[in-house]
Amino acid sequence: MKNYRLTAEQINKLIGARADRSRVLVPVQSEERVELEELDENYDAARAVDFFRPFDPLKSLVLSPFEKVAEFPHSSQTPDPAEVTLYGVKACSVNHLRLLDEIMLDEEIADSFYQARREKLFIISCDCQIVEDTCFCTEVGLAPHPTTGNFDLNIAHIEGEYLLTVGSERGGLFLEEIGLDLAEAGPETEQQLEEQRQRIAEEVAEKNQEFEIEEDIHRSVRSNRDAEVYREKAEDCVECGGCNLVCSSCYCFYLADRPEDQTSFSRFRLWDSCQFNAYARVAGDESPRPLLMQRIRHRIAHKFDYLEESMGFYGCVGCGRCISACPAGIDIRSLLAGVKQ
Ligand code: SF4
Ligand code: SF4
Repeated sequence: MKNYRLTAEQINKLIGARADRSRVLVPVQSEERVELEELDENYDAARAVDFFRPFDPLKSLVLSPFEKVAEFPHSSQTPDPAEVTLYGVKACSVNHLRLLDEIMLDEEIADSFYQARREKLFIISCDCQIVEDTCFCTEVGLAPHPTTGNFDLNIAHIEGEYLLTVGSERGGLFLEEIGLDLAEAGPETEQQLEEQRQRIAEEVAEKNQEFEIEEDIHRSVRSNRDAEVYREKAEDCVECGGCNLVCSSCYCFYLADRPEDQTSFSRFRLWDSCQFNAYARVAGDESPRPLLMQRIRHRIAHKFDYLEESMGFYGCVGCGRCISACPAGIDIRSLLAGVKQ
């Protein structure tokens, strides 16, 4: 992919041009964390390139936490969402989209609600500059900059300048439309970008050394299903489901029907959590995973064994959101370290 040189002024112009075409959500630094908010006229988009990743799960923009999906006898509920530009997300969110696209846009059974919102989502991601203690993308085979094509534009900040990468045809068309005068980055700048990316990836890996996570997580999760760590973590877990709800690789949902009158009902879809006792409940009030340790093991096996097996990549991108969200202080890296043989 080609990189173009970009000034701070051009970044702001670019985001302004998106605002003429769509709703724009941008990262804003609050006291505790970075959150996504609506763009306002005083926003400095160039400064935000360097922010840490927003805490908000990207999935809320493509999979509503709660919505009506059908009515009987009137069944058509096709959504017609407005265009949304998401600015300043990091590689972890781009990787979340890769997984969600794979699951939800299956050729035979694409989720029409997801598809409608996904088509209207324009992604402008930014390379990571800040590595927090919860980041571990390198431990799951990923990197702190986008390596898959699930973004439209990406901006990287290297010493004194910015570089823009076009990730999609839509991104390229938009650039043509707004007529920014962009020069291609030369080999020296490309080299500088490469070195910076390498340095930041090494910083992530270094921060995670203490966990000693095995390189082949798939193998260790699969071959150590009786690991003691599942029982240990079940003693602390309070079954709040926060780890699932904040994770954009967790896409499970629950369907509930509500009668509207004697002859009609509505069907709603809600985010669900595999950590809840009722999640896998079947007729007769039975569950294949009645014990909390079994549900914790299922979450790990789904992400690192089953999804790897079916898609060729993990269902965890190492974003660390579940680590920050867990009220019991459970760190998914210690679970992975605990299944090592
Ligand atoms: S499991 Fe945790 S670290 Fe992995 S993608 Fe989900 S929220 Fe991020
Ligand atoms: S966030 Fe923590 S306490 Fe809540 S269900 Fe997940 S592991 Fe358990």
